[in-house]
Amino acid sequence: MPALLGLLLAASIDGEAALRHASALAALGPHPWGSPRNQAAAAYVAAQLREAGLDDVELQAFERNGIRGTNVIATLRAPGDDFVVIGAHHDTAPEAPGAYDDGGGVGILIELGRILARDERRPRTIVLASFDGEEAWSTGKGTTAGSRAYVERLGSRARSLVAAFAIEMSGWKRGTPVLHPIAYPDPRESGRAVIAPAWLVRAALEGSREAGVPLGVGDPWLSWLYQPAVRTFRVRLYGDDLSFLQAGHPALFASDSSFSAFYPDYHKPSDTADQLDAAALERMGRGVLGIARALERVPRGASEEPNWFGAFDRVIGWPWLVGLGAASLLPGLWRGWRAGGLALAVRVLQAMLAGVLLWLHPVPALWLLLVPHLLLSWRRSWWAVLLALAPAASLLAIGASAWWRQAVNGVWLAPWEIAVAALALALSFLDLRGSGGRKATSRKPPGRKRR
Ligand SMILES: [Zn+2]
Repeated sequence: MPALLGLLLAASIDGEAALRHASALAALGPHPWGSPRNQAAAAYVAAQLREAGLDDVELQAFERNGIRGTNVIATLRAPGDDFVVIGAHHDTAPEAPGAYDDGGGVGILIELGRILARDERRPRTIVLASFDGEEAWSTGKGTTAGSRAYVERLGSRARSLVAAFAIEMSGWKRGTPVLHPIAYPDPRESGRAVIAPAWLVRAALEGSREAGVPLGVGDPWLSWLYQPAVRTFRVRLYGDDLSFLQAGHPALFASDSSFSAFYPDYHKPSDTADQLDAAALERMGRGVLGIARALERVPRGASEEPNWFGAFDRVIGWPWLVGLGAASLLPGLWRGWRAGGLALAVRVLQAMLAGVLLWLHPVPALWLLLVPHLLLSWRRSWWAVLLALAPAASLLAIGASAWWRQAVNGVWLAPWEIAVAALALALSFLDLRGSGGRKATSRKPPGRKRR
């Protein structure tokens, strides 16, 4: 039996081991891209990956904007050209030892390597990448330098890249592992965004669920609000998924920090190993192992599939979102049709505006309009009006709060699109029963005129 037990332990993520790696990296002190200590960090990661049983480990030197760096690239080969990248980053912010950002992620990466290296049959090549220069912002010379250098060096091999998945900021006891699909600026077209495609989010949710650590989308408490929010406001947070998405490849990152619980020592000198928790690293590690297993076998999907909504552990695709939005307009249109005249004209205008918004920004459009459409065509009591306003109010509130925390720096919607949204929303609140046959749906106590 001890042999079997040993085998079982060897096949699961060891949180203590991940914590030892994070501690060893943080013990170097702050080691930003281009610093001498940063070279020691890369050497440590390469040595530990080899120690973990990987024999194809390459130190990939690169230079960007006059600064040198080193990615550590470990490859677990399978037949065929297709490959998946699982990444973390070993550089830190200038002042931070980086136990959490991203020593924990690298520790999990090494543990993944130890487990995946034991696989006898591998459906698809897996590249474990510890990137340098993720915190390149601190040099004022670009972002995610190491992963950008990696993607560029792929050349024509990039065609075989199925997806990239980054492990960020992991191992905080009070955190909860979540996926962070954030909309980033598309360098190919200004004003346009790129975001993790639906199939990739679906595969990650399934993989983590099968591993017994189901990851949420964006936030453990505010997931439904997070999803329209990242498509409405320009969020400043990112991981190495940025380099891949901006080069046209499916990518996503996970962290156990979120809007409702964000690691307080982020990028601070106090980001030390004693803040980390082995059980929290193990939790994230098991989830990511499940995701790696899912990405090994998932059929290749589109590089762009931006409009989706994650709910109840499922990912609802674009046709359903637009269909739901269109269906929600029917009760209002029906009432307008019956009332005729101005009421009909207003409902048709409202439907056209909502249709434009649904077409261009389905997720924010549904968030803003679905509840008013359904609720107000049924009830117009004060509570129904308040409830119908709640989605818009919550979206504005989270945007304002994120702005105050300097987590966003703009909006994705053009000014005319915001005007369309505001008008479509306002029209859904317009009470037109007076212009058709009057039919009160709520009793009013005598003597009260206002509602
Ligand atoms: Zn990071």
